[in-house]
Amino acid sequence: MKRYIILGGGIAALSAAEAIRQNDPSGLIVLLTDEPALPYTRPALTKQLLTEITAGELAVKNAAWYDAPGRDILVLTGRRVAAVDAAQKTVHLADGLVFPYDKLVYALGARCFIPPFAGSDRENVVAVRTAGDAQRVRELARTAKSAVVIGGGVLGLEAAWALRQGGLAVTVIEFEQRIMARQIDAEAANHIAEAMAAQGVTLLTGASAASLEDSGLHLTDGRLLPADLVVVSAGVRANAEIAAAAGIRVERKIVVDERMATSAPDIYAAGDCAVYGVSYALWAEASEMGRVAGVNAAGGDAVYRCVPRPLHFSGFGTELFAIGDPGLDPAKVYEVGRMPGARYYSADDRIVGAVLTGDVSRAAEVEQLVLES
Ligand SMILES: Cc1cc2nc3c(=O)[nH]c(=O)nc-3n(C[C@H](O)[C@H](O)[C@H](O)COP(=O)(O)OP(=O)(O)OC[C@H]3O[C@@H](n4cnc5c(N)ncnc54)[C@H](O)[C@@H]3O)c2cc1C
Repeated sequence: MKRYIILGGGIAALSAAEAIRQNDPSGLIVLLTDEPALPYTRPALTKQLLTEITAGELAVKNAAWYDAPGRDILVLTGRRVAAVDAAQKTVHLADGLVFPYDKLVYALGARCFIPPFAGSDRENVVAVRTAGDAQRVRELARTAKSAVVIGGGVLGLEAAWALRQGGLAVTVIEFEQRIMARQIDAEAANHIAEAMAAQGVTLLTGASAASLEDSGLHLTDGRLLPADLVVVSAGVRANAEIAAAAGIRVERKIVVDERMATSAPDIYAAGDCAVYGVSYALWAEASEMGRVAGVNAAGGDAVYRCVPRPLHFSGFGTELFAIGDPGLDPAKVYEVGRMPGARYYSADDRIVGAVLTGDVSRAAEVEQLVLES
């Protein structure tokens, strides 16, 4: 009987476990996560930030699913992985337990990056990655009147909208000169900025935090913002240190091939901690990477295909959809097809990207168009 150990309790880990079972009906499958809950729908955290909802209620699969006869996937929650010994083929937990493995899937995901401003370690600064982080925001929001969101990406804007709907005075600060500068065109960024203003949310671009004090959040340009609560959404860092310490090739993320194999024998990696080609750090991507890792760990043959992943945002009374390259490569010459609330970008005789704002009802069709072009 083969022993499969899966590190992590996110969607990549769950997909890997499911794929292993589909390809090996009798192997031992153990999933190790430091979170107290079964894998849950992480994307819901910022979308429903102020809604009292537990990780259990967001569970992707309930406990009965893991225990079902013939599936038998053992999830050990509250277990912190400390090290992997690739030569001995063992996983070491912080509590001293050691698990030998035949095949290992490394799916430890990513953690939020906190910019190093003075006071970033204060109690009222939260970066939302886990259900526990969202719970902390809810507790702080009970008494907070003002909030600053650091980072104008999709997750930051989702958090800002949730806090605004909760009645807080919200300011979003964005380091770049416009929001989502690497994902959407300037017109879409303006559209969102206008929608934010209409909902009473202040957006400050070209702005960065200097220090958080009792008086509020000081910006590097000297401005002071009221900030009972600070939500940081400034990107993520892969949890790849344990892999690097085990001698696995890491270049910020764990480098994997199209079969999700790492540089170490019998160790696969998937999800936000790993990179193959272009990495978007999105749910569907982590899920598919996990599936491919699981199939191959169990002796099957699956390959991962990189595809452009779309961006969706809903908030401030509007919606945004973008896919591919919306005219952002200065080295390219684009032709732009314009329709109300829609732009299609073509280069080298193919449609390379598109952006929809307001009415996104044709998103699926547009996605297909770009992917098949
Ligand atoms: C708030 C939020 C909203 C999002 N919204 C969207 C969205 O709308 N659409 C979309 O496509 N994507 C979204 N994403 C991104 C998406 O959720 C991630 O890409 C996906 O969850 C990555 O899955 P993963 O399994 O690779 O990693 P993770 O989900 O990060 O799972 C890794 C797991 O490993 C655990 N772990 C880490 N280190 C250790 C250790 N040493 N020992 C034991 N366990 C450990 C972690 O606690 C975690 O449970 C969102 C992400 C967040 C945080």
